Amino acid sequence: MKEEIGILLRALPSMDELLLLEWVSPIEKRLGREAVKSVFADVIGETRKSLREGDVQEVDVEQIARIARSRLKKMLDRSLKRVVNATGVVVHTNLGRSRLADEALEAVMEVAGRYSNLEYDLSDGARGQRNAHIEWLLCQVSGADAGIVVNNNAGAVLLCLSALARGRQAIVSRGELVEIGGSFRIPDIMSFSGARMVEVGTTNRTHLKDYRGAICEETAILLKVHPSNYRVTGFHSMPERREIADLAREKDIIFMEDLGSGVLQDLAACGLSGEPTVKQCVLSGVDIVTFSGDKLLGGPQIGCVVGRKQLVDKLRTYPFLRALRIDKMTLAAFEATLRLYLEGKAKSIPTLEMISASATLLRARASSLARKIKCETVFSDVSAVKVTDAVGGGAFPTTQLEGYGVQIQSDIPGSRLLESLREAPVPVVAGIRDGNVVLHVRTLTADDRKAVIEAIRFVGRKFEKDV
Ligand SMILES: *Cc1c(COP(=O)(O)O)cnc(C)c1O
Repeated sequence: MKEEIGILLRALPSMDELLLLEWVSPIEKRLGREAVKSVFADVIGETRKSLREGDVQEVDVEQIARIARSRLKKMLDRSLKRVVNATGVVVHTNLGRSRLADEALEAVMEVAGRYSNLEYDLSDGARGQRNAHIEWLLCQVSGADAGIVVNNNAGAVLLCLSALARGRQAIVSRGELVEIGGSFRIPDIMSFSGARMVEVGTTNRTHLKDYRGAICEETAILLKVHPSNYRVTGFHSMPERREIADLAREKDIIFMEDLGSGVLQDLAACGLSGEPTVKQCVLSGVDIVTFSGDKLLGGPQIGCVVGRKQLVDKLRTYPFLRALRIDKMTLAAFEATLRLYLEGKAKSIPTLEMISASATLLRARASSLARKIKCETVFSDVSAVKVTDAVGGGAFPTTQLEGYGVQIQSDIPGSRLLESLREAPVPVVAGIRDGNVVLHVRTLTADDRKAVIEAIRFVGRKFEKDV
């Protein structure tokens, strides 16, 4: 047995042999010899392991070459690329959260390939502050006296806790000790920040007297956390913001709120209610509010902190602020996005536009797309159907948006269709319902709808005989 494996192992192709294959040279020109060698080495190594473990009984040189070739080909393509989001989840964390508005894209283009006054004061020709470009805008849209931005909201929370409560206590309700997106967990952030977490209340109910009873000399912060996509329903209660704010004032401590998805504008008109805006939090007496730039706000990935000037000033000089600082492209996109709010043009921000799209509009789009798919591709059992869409990004988790989609029925199993749609030149990520692929139109632009048709043609060619 051992001897047989030895013979098989000796039959494995050598590196030199593989490097001489005729398709290798053009790939090697683009990726370099070392990258090509490392892929071959990986595939040979994996085959050797399979032979030793008896999973494979013969050496198939062509197969080894084929696997290596497909991996190398993948490496030739840009890895981070456009996809079509046909899931109907607007703020889709895995698909890049918010799409930027055209104005934001223009602003990025303007500063990315050129020099800019990022940290330069043009009026006196001296060093300036990057935060100064957006602080006044943040104050305008939030009603706060001061604001600062960092890399993302997790960073904003960490910065605030560390700068304002390090070595002291931060009180938080047990109902708000949440985990968001797997890696952001309040107890962990708290311990990294150096603040000592004091839990009060219970999972479902926390009273003002619980906060009051826990406050002592050591207390620096009362922290309120948005539960994101987690909800307690039924017998539950939390004190009003106003009441917590009054208590914090009375005891001369800070009331901080991690709002998560920062809503700058009331979304009741889109059928979304129950979430306070950043301004409402500030007005209710929250001293420091943190929120994301790329969730419901509809801008780039950024973490915002707004609140009382005296507190924000402490953050400005805090040593690790530098480690969380944002890039000029992000800053440009964010300034342009905030300007849309200021100018009353927030409706044109893609995230808000998609959330507020009416059922009538979506139905018309779904019918039209269904017709085109039927005419222009080999798929014929195609229909517009009602679907349920979602806001995403942890916001409004229980709100179902009434949407429309295009359902494709065929003999090819839905999961295989989904997989092939992801292999299209512009990959399409769609939903599946009762085994059938459903393309939700809420999250598709006109451009995306064209890409969908291209992708379906691509899938059709692949399955030509089976359709
Ligand atoms: C999303 C979220 C965060 C994390 O924000 P990022 O911008 O992803 O870093 C923190 N807190 C809450 C309540 C959130 O919803």
